[in-house]
Amino acid sequence: MSNCIFCKIAAGEIPANKIYEDDDLIAFHDINPIAAVHFLIVPKQHIESLAHTHPRDLGILGKMLLLAPRLAAEQGLESGFRTAINTGKGGGQEVMHLHIHVFGGGKTGKMADVLAKL
Ligand code: 5GP
Ligand code: ZN
Repeated sequence: MSNCIFCKIAAGEIPANKIYEDDDLIAFHDINPIAAVHFLIVPKQHIESLAHTHPRDLGILGKMLLLAPRLAAEQGLESGFRTAINTGKGGGQEVMHLHIHVFGGGKTGKMADVLAKL
């Protein structure tokens, strides 16, 4: 997608504070973190949202989830972390390219307060 910011980050056209990359996925720190550690796991392939996934995406979805605890531990979140996937305008999604938020560190607030900031 030519006008998609996460496609541009995945293609290396715009810089990001990258923490992981393989053939299928990229992960980088959120530009506007809501916790001491806050990064995004993003498929390189443009998938608009979780509501736009199909059974053929099983592999990529599994890879994204499996990567979350591994990168969280590498980022110092051994004691635990939160994940969020905003889906569609009604779900507060602002960047229309599928991503998992992984965040934690510092004070663990109530879920509703934390998600209100996403
Ligand atoms: P959403 O609301 O779509 O679930 O979350 C999009 C997230 O992407 C937000 O937390 C926002 O701070 C982050 N974001 C938006 N643009 C950029 C960018 O250019 N670089 C990085 N690293 N994060 C971005
Ligand atoms: Zn995209």
